[in-house]
Amino acid sequence: MAIHLQNVSFAYPKAPQKKVLDIQHWSVAPGEQVFIHGPSGGGKSTLLNLLSGILQADHGEVSVLGERLDQMSNRRRDRFRANHIGCVFQQFNLIPYLDAIDNIRLAAHFAATKQATLNQEMGELLSALGIAPSDRCKPTAQLSIGQQQRVAIARALINKPQLLIADEPSSSLDQHNRDAFITLLMSLVKEHEITLLFVSHDLSLSHHFGRVEALSDINTPDRMY
Ligand code: ADP
Ligand code: MG
Repeated sequence: MAIHLQNVSFAYPKAPQKKVLDIQHWSVAPGEQVFIHGPSGGGKSTLLNLLSGILQADHGEVSVLGERLDQMSNRRRDRFRANHIGCVFQQFNLIPYLDAIDNIRLAAHFAATKQATLNQEMGELLSALGIAPSDRCKPTAQLSIGQQQRVAIARALINKPQLLIADEPSSSLDQHNRDAFITLLMSLVKEHEITLLFVSHDLSLSHHFGRVEALSDINTPDRMY
C-alpha cells in the first residue's frame, strides 16, 4: 500500500481533549489518485501533515510507502519526506526572492537527488510545465499566480517522489486556470506513476479523480466507544 492508516488518532497539544483525527482503517494503493473533500476546519491539512510526517499521531499506525512513520525518529522522518514525498501547499511556500531554478534547487538539496543531471531535469520539468526560460530567473514573487503554482509543482516533483500530496493548491485560481492546473497535474502523476492525494473543500474538482471520498466518511473523531 502507498498509504495505510490503522487506529490513528491525533489532537493538537494545545487542545488535547479535542480529537481532530480518529481514523480506524484507511488505505491508498500505489498509483491511485484520490480526492478528499470536506469543509474548512474538518482536518484535511492535519491529515496531510500526518502523512508527510510533519505532525505525529498520538496513537496508531501511519505507514507511507511501506515505512512506519510512527516508528521513525524526527530526523529519519524529515529525510524520508525529502526523498519520497512531494508536497504542494495552498500558498505554494515558494521563497519569493529566489527564482524558480533556485527554489527547485533548494528542494533537491534536501534530498539525495543526483546533482549531475539536476540542471537538465529542472529544465525538462519547467518546459513540461510551460515556464518559459526567460521566466525561470525572475524572483518567483514576480510571476503570476498560475506560474508560481506550476513552479511549486516542479519543486514537488524534482526529487521523483512516489507520493504527491496537495493541500487545496488550486483555491487561488479562477475556474479556467484551475481546470488547466488539475489536468496538467493529472497528466504528470500518471506519466510518472505517482500516487496522488489531493484535498479540497471544492467538490467541483472531484470529476478529475478516480477515487473520491468525504473526509467525514474516513475520519470519525466524535464516534462513541
Ligand atoms: P482543514 O484543513 O480541513 O481546514 P485543519 O486540519 O486545518 O482543517 O484543522 C482541523 C482542526 O484543527 C480545526 O478545528 C483547527 O482549528 C484545528 N487546528 C489546526 N491547526 C491547529 C494548531 N496548530 N493548533 C491547534 N489547533 C489547530
Ligand atoms: Mg487546510
